[in-house]
Amino acid sequence: MSDPLGLTTQALAAIGQARTDEELEKVEVEYLGRKSGHVSRLLSNIGSLPPAEKAALGKAANDAKRAIEAALAARRAELEAARLADLAETEAIDMTFPGPPLKRGHIHVLTQVRREIETVLESLGYKVELGPEVETEWYNFEALNIPAGHPAREAWDSFYFSPELLLRAHTSPVQIRAMQRIKEPPIYIINPGRAYRRDPPEATRLPYFSQVEGLAVDKGLTVGDLKGTLLYMIQSLYGRDRKVRVRPSYFPFTEPSFEFDVSCGICGGMGCKSCRHKGWLEVGGCGMVHPQVLRNGGIDPTRWNGYAWGFGIERMAMLKHDVDDIRLFYESDLRFLEQF
Ligand SMILES: [Zn+2]
Repeated sequence: MSDPLGLTTQALAAIGQARTDEELEKVEVEYLGRKSGHVSRLLSNIGSLPPAEKAALGKAANDAKRAIEAALAARRAELEAARLADLAETEAIDMTFPGPPLKRGHIHVLTQVRREIETVLESLGYKVELGPEVETEWYNFEALNIPAGHPAREAWDSFYFSPELLLRAHTSPVQIRAMQRIKEPPIYIINPGRAYRRDPPEATRLPYFSQVEGLAVDKGLTVGDLKGTLLYMIQSLYGRDRKVRVRPSYFPFTEPSFEFDVSCGICGGMGCKSCRHKGWLEVGGCGMVHPQVLRNGGIDPTRWNGYAWGFGIERMAMLKHDVDDIRLFYESDLRFLEQF
């Protein structure tokens, strides 16, 4: 192949030295540019040459053009490959490299306490029953012996969707539903779950909270059976040195009714700041199931009787962990939650 004036040789050398696309482009313009490129200029006076020389020069120019184009393409590919290799070196992801360790969460303290309570009572033969949080007025009040106009309704005032439908104010409706479903005693159930009341949030109460209630329906049950169950539960949760006492109270759905207290774990019942010098901490309510409530659940109160109790899980957790503000359980503050 002829190389007039060594054009191709010069061009290939320049291409070989180019380090970037921009440098390559300069070389391309210098040699192949339409107006002032070396190859074009070579051909500019071709018209004045005799025919034989004309043909030879035309061929030489075409050969030079093709050779330069091929060299440019090859060098571009080389530069691109080098760029990619460089990228692979500096930015590659090593799939075998171990990632940073994931932080492990843990069960929320209220769930921990609820599960402990469930475990203790399941060991006594109680079964967990759940029910809807949106209840009818009948299950929330009427069936529990709290008819319309009863002053006790005020203590369980909740949030209504309609006059007939509300967020349950306690988990007790689950007991009615369970009696209706199981029909034939003995019945030993606990019903944990969320309840709602129209209370403004403060250190000791919230408009939503969790309860665990228990219900036993059998033959010849006594207050002694009730108290023994509560004592076993409290001692399993807080230790064998704790005592339980019941005080007469009033609930529409039990007769007789009691509040139940647990002896203060800090002073052992002697009285201290934490128990407001009473020696006892209030935990919940309990009593023997009112015959009308059994009837509403479809159970014959002349053949069967029962006892029931209920308390707030938050309250139990506060006693267990010396927490003095119920709102802390729901604020999702990790500094608080990580302690449990
Ligand atoms: Zn005390």
